[in-house]
Amino acid sequence: MASLNSAQPGSQEGTHAAQPPEPPEPQQDTSPHEFGRVHPDLYPIGPHYAEYGRSVTFPGPWVEGETEPRPPSIIPVAKLGWAHLPPAEWAAYFKDEASSVSTPTLNRSAIGVLRAAPSLQEPLLRHEKPISNIRLSRKVSLNFQNLESALIQTVGIIEPQECTYCLRGNGRWEKCISSHDPEDTITSCGNCQWNSSGERCNLPHNRPA
Ligand SMILES: [Zn+2]
Ligand SMILES: [Zn+2]
Repeated sequence: MASLNSAQPGSQEGTHAAQPPEPPEPQQDTSPHEFGRVHPDLYPIGPHYAEYGRSVTFPGPWVEGETEPRPPSIIPVAKLGWAHLPPAEWAAYFKDEASSVSTPTLNRSAIGVLRAAPSLQEPLLRHEKPISNIRLSRKVSLNFQNLESALIQTVGIIEPQECTYCLRGNGRWEKCISSHDPEDTITSCGNCQWNSSGERCNLPHNRPA
């Protein structure tokens, strides 16, 4: 630890009039934000990151005519918090999900654009509202706009100024993240895009098409 805030004794010359004390150096807020124990199954792993539940493995199906079962599908443990984690299991999970959407869905969504973009971070859920990994995976597979939302959180850029919806603590995800693809295919943040409600987003670049 650098001694940023340690006193420097012996610097007083004695010949000058007493000077007002130096204002303290502004310090970065590195104090750990504790997770409230909002749910007994929320496991804080670090000050800004918690996990919820367990990962679930579904055995791969036997497909007629094939000699081996398909590989098992794994739903990772739910991840929550405001840490910045490099892309990992959930980023891969959502990209994988995006690779299997049907052509009609692809044609009426931004999934193609979003899945082609590089993953920038692991999407983390809002820690006050944990949902199970199975529920998350179902919601994403049943509603393509939820998949868009998850992909925005994976490939998008963290907004320095949250939209009002996120600022008020709404939404599935901890951070206000939006995608900045050249064509502006999606203009809302991932939280607003959830449940097909992207029009509620008031980010400055959420302008009508
Ligand atoms: Zn937002
Ligand atoms: Zn928004």
